[in-house]
Amino acid sequence: QFRARSSFKLLELLDKHKLVPPRDQWVVDCGAAPGGWSQVVARRHSRIVAVDLLPMQPIAQVRFVQGDFLQPATKAQIAELLGGQKVGLLLSDMAPSFTGHHAVDAARTMALCEDIIEFSGEFLALGGSMVVKFFMGGGEPEMRQALRRLFERVCIEKPAASRRQSSEQYFVCIRKLPQDSPQT
Ligand code: SAM
Repeated sequence: QFRARSSFKLLELLDKHKLVPPRDQWVVDCGAAPGGWSQVVARRHSRIVAVDLLPMQPIAQVRFVQGDFLQPATKAQIAELLGGQKVGLLLSDMAPSFTGHHAVDAARTMALCEDIIEFSGEFLALGGSMVVKFFMGGGEPEMRQALRRLFERVCIEKPAASRRQSSEQYFVCIRKLPQDSPQT
């Protein structure tokens, strides 16, 4: 009864890493449509905000914002729903629009990861975790290094439910660290 087979990928990642946000914190699902991941989270958690450029059919427990997650107007709507509270678990299954040109696509993938890192800097609680999709093909060692400065533990996962031919993988970033010195 899941809307997308991607639900099984998230189930696998959440269970393997025991990612359970505290009851009073929020889960934000970026790039949520058609809603497979939000459905998984809604089975376990009641405070969920889902965001997507595309519309999404409603899911009980899930508050939906339509828009680009980086646009100030979208962020303002998300912040309003969070009511000033932080996010315990941030999810991104977003993909950039691919051109077929390898270098351009690799750069777009990494730019999207950087955008999500920036978003996590703003919204994710200390001690919070995140799951971010990326595509192999350039830049992932540097990205992993950057993430390791921000989180206690960073794993790269290829869930069994993810097609083998697809170059998609997931960063699982566990427990956001306090950032008391500027990043270098
Ligand atoms: N996890 C979803 C599920 O289980 O149903 C599938 C997500 S789908 C692979 C990726 C989604 O990311 C698309 O619906 C796309 O519209 C969305 N997306 C891509 N860039 C976005 C952005 N900048 N802001 C919001 N959504 C975005």
